[in-house]
Amino acid sequence: MSKEKEFEINKNKDFSKWYLKVLRKAEIIDDRFPAKGMYVYSWYGLDLIKKCISILELLLKVHKHKEERYPTLIPYSVFMKEKKFFEGFQGEAYLVTKTLKKELDEPLILRPTSETAMYYMWSMWIRSYAQLPLKIFQTVNIFRCESKMTRPLLRLREVIFFNEAHTAHATKEEAEEQIKEAIEIYRKFFDDLLIPYLIIKTPKWDTFAGALYNYDFLTVLPDGKTLELGSVINLGQNFGKAFDIKFQDKDGKKKYVWQTCYGIAERVVGALISIHGDNKGLRLPFEIAPIQIVIIPILKKDEEKEILNYCENIKNKLSKFRVLLDESERTPGEKFNIWELKGVPIRIEIGLREVKNNEITISRRDIKERIKLKINELERVEEIGKEITKNLKKEAKKWFEGRIKYAENLEELKKNIKEGFVKIPFCSIDENGKKCAEKLKEICEIVGTLYPEENKPINKKCLVCGKEAKVYVYACRSY
Ligand SMILES: [Zn+2]
Repeated sequence: MSKEKEFEINKNKDFSKWYLKVLRKAEIIDDRFPAKGMYVYSWYGLDLIKKCISILELLLKVHKHKEERYPTLIPYSVFMKEKKFFEGFQGEAYLVTKTLKKELDEPLILRPTSETAMYYMWSMWIRSYAQLPLKIFQTVNIFRCESKMTRPLLRLREVIFFNEAHTAHATKEEAEEQIKEAIEIYRKFFDDLLIPYLIIKTPKWDTFAGALYNYDFLTVLPDGKTLELGSVINLGQNFGKAFDIKFQDKDGKKKYVWQTCYGIAERVVGALISIHGDNKGLRLPFEIAPIQIVIIPILKKDEEKEILNYCENIKNKLSKFRVLLDESERTPGEKFNIWELKGVPIRIEIGLREVKNNEITISRRDIKERIKLKINELERVEEIGKEITKNLKKEAKKWFEGRIKYAENLEELKKNIKEGFVKIPFCSIDENGKKCAEKLKEICEIVGTLYPEENKPINKKCLVCGKEAKVYVYACRSY
């Protein structure tokens, strides 16, 4: 096999292998760290993740969230204050009980999420309705002892970029409005990342520990398994009561706050890589790519200086973008492969011909297209970048739509579930429905109902029990 073909793996045929290889080769993640579910984030991956997360951080700030930092270790007595939450994290939260030498006075929990750390403090801060709403976020690492198979970016024991937002409100209605705002923030975020998704209201039996209800953003990966991208959770007054977060309302009465929280993590970047990548490696949206344009000199002996000067000149003219001039010793072919693998959206080739004709040759990463531009047409580069983003979005949308199927009987469900989501008529999403969901456990998971709500099924029977179907639910096999 020639060196130039080294990377090619059929993404759709062997997604798992493709994914691990692209992460390592493109310097996103090194998965050889000797602790399960914990990985090293390489320079290129780190840059990409930070670019993505900063889009969300900016959106949160625009929507009046303030950024703070809370400690990583939470006293056991604080962590256990909300009973259902505490039970929900039994299997996943790490407990620190000692140093290498001696037992600690009080055991500490390595945060799996920060509700308890934040709300403990909020109970000291919040006194009056005038301080509400309180909207705080942080991007931090969290720890969860995943029992399932771990996978870089997608399923981790140490999540490095957990962006969690938490809010407190005076009324139930204001908390519900906040849920809607959070959904809009996430919509915008995933649209910017060109990640297609469904918003699903989870059934009662699958709600976040300690919450009233939650919405999940879900997408599909190339192997047909679905991935939770983020969730938006209405906590009601459960934590307010457990942590005694009370305020004096306009009417002079003391009341408990109403709360919401929502979070995403670097797995959204795992989704971005998986959905847009191809057999040559990553393909990145122009706006997000750590390097947007790479200039590759095609050097000819005796003319090297002239060509390199011309390259520098082009680089300077494009300085409002993230441009890299690859002057390394590698051959042009090797450079093409490396930057294709890393998903750089625009490649500019400059050889003697380009210098003589006062032009550049552009190659798009998303499609096979070469474009010649005169030096006075360089403003076209931005347009081309935007076209690449638009094209990736269109491709992803089309692909995603093909991953949402429908089934009215078990046979259809079994057949279609390999593709991604399957919409099915279902009896209910309360306790009765739970029994039906459990009967499907071997085949799939029932994730919930679509948001905004769909029309109810008419004259349809529950795919499992045969009783009248009151809702459509979405079934899938998840990560
Ligand atoms: Zn049923």
